[in-house]
Amino acid sequence: MLKRIVNSLMCLSCQGDLSFYDKDIKCVKCGRIYKIKNGAVVFHEENTKDQSDSFIFGLKIFLKKHPKLFFFLFYMLGVFTGKTSKKAIEHVPRGSLIVNVASGIKVIREDVINVDLHPFLGIHIAADAQKLPLKNSSCDAVICEASLEHIKNPVPAVQEMYRVLKNGGLIYIIVPFIQGFHSSPSDYYRWTKEGVKELFKNFEEKELGIFGGPTYAFTSVLREWLAIILSFNSEFAYQIFSLVFLVILAPFNFLDYVFSRYKSADNMASSFYFIGTKKSKINR
Ligand SMILES: [Zn+2]
Repeated sequence: MLKRIVNSLMCLSCQGDLSFYDKDIKCVKCGRIYKIKNGAVVFHEENTKDQSDSFIFGLKIFLKKHPKLFFFLFYMLGVFTGKTSKKAIEHVPRGSLIVNVASGIKVIREDVINVDLHPFLGIHIAADAQKLPLKNSSCDAVICEASLEHIKNPVPAVQEMYRVLKNGGLIYIIVPFIQGFHSSPSDYYRWTKEGVKELFKNFEEKELGIFGGPTYAFTSVLREWLAIILSFNSEFAYQIFSLVFLVILAPFNFLDYVFSRYKSADNMASSFYFIGTKKSKINR
């Protein structure tokens, strides 16, 4: 995989070309070395230990190491009515450069390059979304699913996605609207449908719709509320109740197969997806 993409990578110090050097990767211009760890080129590494006291965050880290279990639970407990990234890229030819920014361990398609802050197994590039080590106009498609809210400065991150995309290249994004705080390890933002349009104004909009519907939004808020009032102010009890109600309320989410289609559902969708292409002229 790395052999296929090394020519599209660039040095973060001097924007020079990179090439294989011993077991690592080296900048041919300034000589900076980027280690390869777990099969990922490491441009950036962040410490996640700060949040290890949180039970749910610990559980997330555990599940990230067990991807099959993670995605089984993810699709069992949530109902998502919007177009998936897999579907969105079905017409992008195999072997194109498709980058999933802040991917986690998800495998959308076997030729998709996973970029994440942490070199987990299954990550190809460990890098910050605000400073991608990819050359200008090098990517055929960029994906970023439910991750922009965890990035401190989402506008520069979107500008980076714009920079690395080829003209006409495809972008696929999911952003949350009505959802409680969820650390991963941090959580900063939510977007309305109008907010999504504003954030991606430099892209030609192809599709903008509900990904997680109003029932999912409602059950997740109800779950949080029940967990808060039943917790008696114990953080541990709150997290346990939160998981219990996640399971109990999950079946109601199937109602979204009907209600996500209603026009007014935009007003309290759980999340939106956006599909666009890179325009050559940008709007200020
Ligand atoms: Zn360099």
